[in-house]
Amino acid sequence: MHDTYDIAVVGAGPAGMTAALYGKRAGMNVALFEGRMAGGQMSEAGTIENYPGFPDGVAGIDLAMAMREQVEHQGITIIDQLVDRIIPSADHTDLVAGGITYHAHALICAMGAHHRQLNVPGEAELIGHGVSYCATCDGNFFRGGSVAVVGGGDAAVGAALYLSRICTQVVLIHRRDTFRASQRDIDRLSHTSNIELHYNAEVLRLEETPQHKLAHIITRSTLTGKESMLNVDGLFVMAGHIPSSDLVASFVQCDDHGYISADEQGATSHVGIWAAGDIRSKHLRQVTTATADGANAAEAAAEWCAS
Ligand SMILES: Cc1cc2nc3c(=O)[nH]c(=O)nc-3n(C[C@H](O)[C@H](O)[C@H](O)COP(=O)(O)OP(=O)(O)OC[C@H]3O[C@@H](n4cnc5c(N)ncnc54)[C@H](O)[C@@H]3O)c2cc1C
Repeated sequence: MHDTYDIAVVGAGPAGMTAALYGKRAGMNVALFEGRMAGGQMSEAGTIENYPGFPDGVAGIDLAMAMREQVEHQGITIIDQLVDRIIPSADHTDLVAGGITYHAHALICAMGAHHRQLNVPGEAELIGHGVSYCATCDGNFFRGGSVAVVGGGDAAVGAALYLSRICTQVVLIHRRDTFRASQRDIDRLSHTSNIELHYNAEVLRLEETPQHKLAHIITRSTLTGKESMLNVDGLFVMAGHIPSSDLVASFVQCDDHGYISADEQGATSHVGIWAAGDIRSKHLRQVTTATADGANAAEAAAEWCAS
């Protein structure tokens, strides 16, 4: 026996939660699936300063909790399960989560994106033992200690600045000689005395202590090939994100980087399936654009269900 919904939304980040709200308000019976913690990447952001309505900014985790509360108040069914399989057909989709098969007329993919790993020796073994992908989640474990951050974008620069306030020393390792971050944050970097910048360097491998903690980071100069050893307590990998599109990539068209190709309303190449938020191919991946995508996709999916 299937549980049947008009619209199934997979992922309770800002895109999915907004899609669920708009779907429900359009009179649809909506199920929202979330495998981890509602809020998605927002929960990892420190203070979000560019989401309208919060003159002093808002903690990402608070915004995530407020959105979840709003979804609950609307009486939307939240299924706290990771969706393991999505089986499409012409007029409906089956979703398998926690061993149960759910049936939905329309599907909105809002699974967002996840951290890119460095894929260097030692990394996988040291996750949770010195290696982290979220400064605001794990920074406190290294309070008063020394850490390295690897990456060159907004997330890496933001993490280095955040960690400089709680750690004694922060080394920022970047493969290139310029950062791809906001000029304001780049300026802040150069004015922060406990951040050391290691340009043109890449992480080669991680070594551990006999107690199974991070001992050293071995880096290599991209200019000379010379190897160096860095002794720090923690390593924060901020090497970008990859879209969580695996579940649908075999039947929905994706771009070269794995982002789902979708039109302005989020319609994908498969009838009855929409995509919203960071999982879709687009220019700007932010909370505001994710919520906008969610609203558009739900509106279109609801119209399709009603037709
Ligand atoms: C450190 C950091 C700081 C940021 N700072 C800002 C900022 O200041 N301002 C701003 O606007 N944006 C910021 N962003 C970006 C913003 O958070 C994202 O653009 C936004 O969260 C994308 O929303 P989304 O709903 O598309 O996806 P996500 O937030 O990635 O949410 C996707 C959700 O889907 C769930 N999911 C995935 N697969 C499954 C599955 N199979 N079954 C069930 N659930 C699944 C995930 O658990 C997750 O909760 C930041 C991001 C990071 C990482």
